[in-house]
Amino acid sequence: MPTLFLDGRWTSASAGGTREVVNPYDRSLVRTVDEGEETDAHSAVRAARRAFDHGQWRGWTARRRARLLRRVAELLQRDRAEIARLETLDTGKTLVEGGIDVDDVTGVFEYYAAQAESDPGRLVDAGNPAVRSRVLYEPVGVCALIAPWNYPLLQMSWKVAPALAAGNTMVLKPSELTPLTTVKLVELVAEAGAPPGVVNLVLGSGTTVGAALVDSPEVDLVSFTGGLDTGRAIMSAAARTVKKVALELGGKNPNIVFADADFEAAVDYALLAVFFHAGQVCSAGTRLVVEESVHERFVAELVARAERIRLGNGLDPDTESGPLVSAEHREKVESYVDIGVAEGARLLTGGRRPDDPALAQGFFYLPTVFDGCRSDMRVVQEETFGPILSVERFPDAESAVRIGNDTTYGLAAGVWTGDARKAEYVARGLRHGTVWINDFGPYLPQAEWGGFKRSGVGRELGRAGLAEYQEAKHIYENTAVEPQRWFAR
Ligand code: NAD
Repeated sequence: MPTLFLDGRWTSASAGGTREVVNPYDRSLVRTVDEGEETDAHSAVRAARRAFDHGQWRGWTARRRARLLRRVAELLQRDRAEIARLETLDTGKTLVEGGIDVDDVTGVFEYYAAQAESDPGRLVDAGNPAVRSRVLYEPVGVCALIAPWNYPLLQMSWKVAPALAAGNTMVLKPSELTPLTTVKLVELVAEAGAPPGVVNLVLGSGTTVGAALVDSPEVDLVSFTGGLDTGRAIMSAAARTVKKVALELGGKNPNIVFADADFEAAVDYALLAVFFHAGQVCSAGTRLVVEESVHERFVAELVARAERIRLGNGLDPDTESGPLVSAEHREKVESYVDIGVAEGARLLTGGRRPDDPALAQGFFYLPTVFDGCRSDMRVVQEETFGPILSVERFPDAESAVRIGNDTTYGLAAGVWTGDARKAEYVARGLRHGTVWINDFGPYLPQAEWGGFKRSGVGRELGRAGLAEYQEAKHIYENTAVEPQRWFAR
């Protein structure tokens, strides 16, 4: 079956290009997909433009759009096992993680269904009984939705659900490494009854298809999740046509542990924070910041447990962590280990590929812990996007906040303490978009997600996540107009 979706029809790439999607566990071929080019991106944008400007979609009530979203949520659950498996084959993550992603995304579609229905605009009191003033929230138009490879289904759904809820049309561009669950998502949205042209899908590289979408004068908004450098390029390219831009970029997220924290839970979550999905998580807690008095015991326990993490095939129920996504990405991660060593960080464990011959074909890398780190090291400041933990120490709450904020990113942070006032002091002091107290990782569809500083522009999820896809329009009606005689009285 062809894998581009243009104007309601599955089609092959116009130039006949294809790409092989490989399983990062063993490099086996999962599926050959179509590889689109600029012309396919332009066709998709034209279809989305027509559907927005002239299609029946504009006449859909919010209630009807909400029903569409609820139907997508049902279909996601109907095909949960198949989608989780596709995500595992594509990314290497475990089946359990793939299933969690499907459930999370189902909740996001349900949340935005409810938001669509409860969004009637608002009346504004003009202070003049003769004036009826209203603010309406209308769709922005044609949206280009560009997603990364680490959470392919989840990151794309965080965009598709609010974009549909608000009444936009769209072109989806998943990562070239992991397109399979986005193909499936588009199948489900079509099955749920989205009219032709509302959702279009173009697979292909970022520099061809992605850049063509960002450059197109027919696209009104680009919502992008991915790396900092790509985000910069998109922001500056979008300036030419003054598009709206929403950016979810990287993070270098501090996980701050005080001596009075629940030791067992804090160690457990510190492992989860950094080694979940092999560290390929934008909000990964890759920067452990521990109070001096507990540092030694904490790190010893953490290292002992990190060495017992079972790497393997995501389809195997015994596997705790899968491989990295690609050979190139593993090389990047490895280069950061070299950088850390050269900077004088102390390598306590990992720092190499596993010896197990059963893992030799996959892009595996051992959980790695660096102690004795300082804020000015590159391994502490830059996003490695792999299973690398850097450990720093702090003497008091004030320095914990200072270290936690000593980053150009600002996506997420954790704080562990049994003292509620201390937790509040640190949580308020941190300049990060999400702060977890005595937890690490969860998000809610109804709470905004996004970055301070260079972690991004705008928010996903929550009310603000819907507002990204809306234009506010003020309608001011004078019900008792009389000549003003301002000029030429
Ligand atoms: P990436 O920036 O390399 O690619 C992301 C997407 O952008 C891909 O679909 C790619 O094809 C496309 N792209 C590349 N160049 C482009 C261009 N010039 N114009 C338009 N599109 C282009 O990122 P990645 O390696 O796929 O993902 C990892 C990054 O994503 C990490 O930095 C991670 O922190 C970030 N991320 C952030 C969040 C968040 O919520 N803030 C969530 C997940 C991932």
